[in-house]
Amino acid sequence: NNKVIAIDGPAGAGKSTVARRLSERINFTYIDSGALFRAVTLKVLKCGIETDDVKNILYYAKNSSLDFINNSIYLDGEDVSSEIREAFVNSKVSYIAMIPEIREIIVNIQRKIAQNKDVVVDGRDIGTTVFPQAYIKFFLTASVEERAKRRYNELCDKNKCTLEEVRDQIIERDYIDAHREASPLRQAEDAILIDTTGKNIDEVIAEMLYHISM
Ligand code: C5P
Repeated sequence: NNKVIAIDGPAGAGKSTVARRLSERINFTYIDSGALFRAVTLKVLKCGIETDDVKNILYYAKNSSLDFINNSIYLDGEDVSSEIREAFVNSKVSYIAMIPEIREIIVNIQRKIAQNKDVVVDGRDIGTTVFPQAYIKFFLTASVEERAKRRYNELCDKNKCTLEEVRDQIIERDYIDAHREASPLRQAEDAILIDTTGKNIDEVIAEMLYHISM
């Protein structure tokens, strides 16, 4: 049987960095579920669709091709890995991710990839909804100050916004993600909680490997 390692948590908790490193370390395929939601959001915004125009959002989502090649995300054949991290996507992605039909499309993509591979998947609802039977589940958190700092330091152009703005945006996104009706951000009952505040990546990976006995 293929193994799934689920990593959930709020924005900036370190999920994607840790998930990528862990996947390399244990030779699993990495699935960045947030990148799929971001790519759909990018497509919708590029087509000039409003985030409440569900009918058109679904039309464009269904007529898009989404692919991971070597940990890069391709939208309609184009590598959009950096574009999906830009601020205009950050501010809209949670509205697109609220739509149940969009979640269904993205859940199916993830399950299809995991059909014939061992995977590390990071997101918000992986342990609760996408892979409730996961081999092992982690829930990563960190203080909001630390999460804001990490996201701020990732920005290429720090003159465009302040640390406070990044902090407010994280708080808003987490609120929407945790309060939506369709599979909200939540810690699965059988998930292992790791608080990454003040810990570096190696320390977090070591803690995870301790729990993964393979
Ligand atoms: O993890 P990342 O910050 O890239 O996720 C972007 C957004 O995509 C989240 O804020 C959330 O709205 C949505 N998302 C989701 N479910 C997932 C992964 C991401 O709703 N499994």
